[in-house]
Amino acid sequence: MIETIGVIGGGQLGRMLTLVAKRMGYRVVVLDPQEHSPCGQVADEQIVAAYTDISAMDRLGEEAQIVTYEFENISIDSVEHLEQQGHRVTPSSSVLRITQDRLLEKTFVRDCGIATTPFAAVRAESDLDRGIRSVGLPAILKTVHGGYDGKGQWRIASLEEARIALRESSGVAMILERVVDFTQELSVIATRAADDTVVTYPVAENTHDRGILATTVAPAHVGTNVGKRAEEIACTIGRRLGIVGTYCVELFLTRDGELLVNEIAPRPHNSGHYTIDVAPCSQYEQHVRAICGLPLSPPRLFTNAIMVNILGEGTGNHLGGVEELLSDPRIVLHMYGKKHAVARRKMGHFTMLVDTPIDDAAMASALAARERLFWA
Ligand code: AMP
Repeated sequence: MIETIGVIGGGQLGRMLTLVAKRMGYRVVVLDPQEHSPCGQVADEQIVAAYTDISAMDRLGEEAQIVTYEFENISIDSVEHLEQQGHRVTPSSSVLRITQDRLLEKTFVRDCGIATTPFAAVRAESDLDRGIRSVGLPAILKTVHGGYDGKGQWRIASLEEARIALRESSGVAMILERVVDFTQELSVIATRAADDTVVTYPVAENTHDRGILATTVAPAHVGTNVGKRAEEIACTIGRRLGIVGTYCVELFLTRDGELLVNEIAPRPHNSGHYTIDVAPCSQYEQHVRAICGLPLSPPRLFTNAIMVNILGEGTGNHLGGVEELLSDPRIVLHMYGKKHAVARRKMGHFTMLVDTPIDDAAMASALAARERLFWA
């Protein structure tokens, strides 16, 4: 019987997961190095410790009947340790191992018979020339481990630029990827249960600003075939990974209609936040259901949605313009309880509920709503 859920990572994803888990009657204990983390503020208890602190992990494992994580850049040793001690962790360390490593991840996707961006491993400067010849230019050099929200990425247009970027990256393992000339960035939020049931939300369309998600439109403006294919890709990946829980597959749609997988996130995802407001069962609830062995709910959207991220600007910690924002009855606001609105830090988001097909006017009004907010 599951009474307590352990969550590694105390960010906003953990917070939204915890709010749902609490509604469903669970106790939640979170482990995060930062006191009063966004998740810790709403959980029953926060263990303040590093992700590498084995005795803190033991405490989490002892308190919770199931442990999950909301952030994939955690120590794999800690997750393996919990498993070795007989604690249940989901997604498992084998899923984490693949999704933490861009090279393993892309190789895994290719082995599933699914297309990815052309890529090559770069372990030393001597690999650059061959890498560029195989993937082509322009390209992106990314750290194999640890990068997120566009961190650890360098766009390069020549061998010389690649050499400079590699020197800046201080000798860590890298992957070279061809820059994809995409028409749309898409994502599929899916959940797989232990009995191999997989549910998928309709494919959503994302825009990024310098590597950070800016907006999500759901459902995406894509033809039925592209939508169906994207959902099939997500199902195949979930089944082949054997993941239990909610995950996200990020894709590029190329000019000639090809879908290329960019990334897999083994956890609820920023592009699925909108499900809290427009679906009877959100991506977070599906995750709780999957990890607690409860039936999944067939995804259904009551209405269309535009999600807009609210980033810090480094100009103050108080969000102004909220009254005006919420004078639009279509808007629902979510803030994450972070004290310092550091530039480009994810502080919150809002969802605009749109009951007509999402057109340029709806998008313009969502972006104009964002403009009404300011940090002071
Ligand atoms: P990632 O950390 O891999 O999700 O990259 C963050 C964002 O950078 C993506 O959502 C894209 O907007 C952009 N990006 C990453 N890789 C590529 C690529 N191979 N081609 C074009 N854009 C990319």
